[in-house]
Amino acid sequence: MDPNDEWDAYEASVAASEPPPNQSSSNSSKPVATTVYTNSNRSDWRANNISNTNRSNWRANNISNTNNQRFDTNNKKNITVPSDKVGRIIGKGGSKIRDLEYETDTKIQIGQASGSDTVITLLGSDDNISKVQEMIGKLTEEWKPPVKKSFDTATNSAKNSTNNPDPNFDPKEYMIINEHGEEVMDWERFNAYCDKVQKDIWANLPPIVKDFYQEDPEITAMTPSQVAQWRKVNNDIQVKRTFDDKPDLRPIPNPVLKFEHAFRNYPEILEQIYKQGFKQPSPIQSQAWPILLRGEDMIGIAQTGTGKTLAFLLPALIHIDGQPTPREERAGPTVLILAPTRELALQIWQEVCKYEYRGIKSVCLYGGANRKDQINQVSKGVDIVIATPGRFNDLVLARHLHAINFSYIVLDEADRMLDMGFEPQIRSSLFDVRPNRQCVMTSATWPEGVCSLAEKYMSNPIQVNVGSLDLAAVHTVTQKFKFVEEEDKDSTLFEFIYDMDENDKIIIFCGKKATASHISSELAVKGIPCQSIHGNLDQSDREAALADMLDGTVNILVATDVASRGIDIKDLTHVINLDFPRHIEEYVHRIGRTGRAGKTGTALTLITRNDWAHAAELIKILEEAEQDIPDELERMAHRFKEMKIRSEREGGNMGRGGRGRGGRGRGRGNRW
Ligand code: AMP
Repeated sequence: MDPNDEWDAYEASVAASEPPPNQSSSNSSKPVATTVYTNSNRSDWRANNISNTNRSNWRANNISNTNNQRFDTNNKKNITVPSDKVGRIIGKGGSKIRDLEYETDTKIQIGQASGSDTVITLLGSDDNISKVQEMIGKLTEEWKPPVKKSFDTATNSAKNSTNNPDPNFDPKEYMIINEHGEEVMDWERFNAYCDKVQKDIWANLPPIVKDFYQEDPEITAMTPSQVAQWRKVNNDIQVKRTFDDKPDLRPIPNPVLKFEHAFRNYPEILEQIYKQGFKQPSPIQSQAWPILLRGEDMIGIAQTGTGKTLAFLLPALIHIDGQPTPREERAGPTVLILAPTRELALQIWQEVCKYEYRGIKSVCLYGGANRKDQINQVSKGVDIVIATPGRFNDLVLARHLHAINFSYIVLDEADRMLDMGFEPQIRSSLFDVRPNRQCVMTSATWPEGVCSLAEKYMSNPIQVNVGSLDLAAVHTVTQKFKFVEEEDKDSTLFEFIYDMDENDKIIIFCGKKATASHISSELAVKGIPCQSIHGNLDQSDREAALADMLDGTVNILVATDVASRGIDIKDLTHVINLDFPRHIEEYVHRIGRTGRAGKTGTALTLITRNDWAHAAELIKILEEAEQDIPDELERMAHRFKEMKIRSEREGGNMGRGGRGRGGRGRGRGNRW
């Protein structure tokens, strides 16, 4: 997947055929909510820029030509490419062309289309021009079905992929004659050879140390029933070995009760914690720190807001500093944190930056931002890489990063990464990772895919569950509902907004990007400042949107589900679900954006007849939170159940009813 598309992967299912955001109202956008409109223009960059006959202007305006000085503008070469492939060279927002220019030290000018071809001018040294021409050739070539690998390509790629250090390697040794008298590769023997090479490479890596834990006598003295009681009253934490609890494995450590219990031997870490003003470890931290400081693999079933970042971060800092190989002699960064979205990656990075420890440096890598800058930062030497899987895999494939060097790996919000289709990138990136690394995974849920990822990358992990579905969040949020017709949603929302207090801070969740754009436009037309965050927006605008919410420049954020997790906006008072989310888990994540850090919050959810399939699940959540269950919700759940029974009896398939485009309005009236 193109790393720049990583964000869109998530929203693709929602936005398959959505029109670009409404541009017609852009004139009325200023001065409030400016990003809403500048973004809608920008997202349609192709229409606005590429088809523009004055392409040189576009280049001048959009691609900062920082390396202009280096080029001998007389040394140029014109090539032609099919016009319908020019977009591949440019990439989203000009990202690909920037990458090509950076990687080959050239300048690329897109010329006018003539007929079905477009002339492209390449500037730079002869060598670099050939390099970029070859790369452009690869980018624009038609896809062909893969041909059977020849002996040479197979062995060469195997040789390269393992970085085979064996100078005596001769692929011919692995050839055999088959029953037809043909010379073919003996794959079994060859694969065994590759495995051995890989093992030798791992065996020659510098050793790593993983156990830094010294249990405090107060913690050792805790009785099993005290431990059980502590877990019960701390979000009903459950701890177990995820897979077989083998007899040779150490018992699960007791939780720590104070910061000093975990970090007494690391006063500089304690100092950093005190600086934050935290009073005590959060439940996940209490249980995770002893496990992680002891060097064990851990799966945290916990969500944002539980303190999970610090749970894996502080042991990571100690791990970095405690390795026998001095940092300056290491072949690459030590800690890798993969996160599903740019926002979450940035949020983790911001958290990391709050903790100064022995000059440890970190970098945040994500698609849609300047790849050249990111590569520069990596090459200057960092200890922690926080990345989205698309961009990380991109840099691994380009050999700017090598998974083999990481000895502490975090897969944050693993379920979300899998939902977004990142499994191939994760598996490809971590192919070489050393088997004795320490691995941490966090996930809000425990689906099959996450379990198999854990089986593949973790060694006897200990699983810490902080409440199933983190229903703790729903206890601090008052959940309100309004039963409306689809067409009355806007007026209901605006009624609420007009009643807002000056200090209220709200997030409005919409099911589609188009709805988010529409609501943002409506707010702007009414002169109500807001920000918006969804997959059609540039990265910088998403960051600006969050910053504006955080510093109080605006009090309303309009969002799609990309913002439902990982976004930590302090003092959010209300969550409004304009559209009901597709999954009940998403509902919990959304409402959990408020009522955080000891505060209470309110969630208002607009429910239409099309949402009836969710009524029963919603009732369970309300029961768990000991909140009032509206009669209308009970009736909806009842009607849905009856419909399902009727449908099954009649052999029909009513599905989940009415959430999809096609389903909207099916059987309206009689099922309500
Ligand atoms: P997280 O779950 O990692 O997204 O953390 C959510 C928020 O909780 C962040 O703003 C952290 O700074 C904060 N936090 C982390 N640990 C603690 C703690 N022990 N006490 C209070 N707040 C914390």
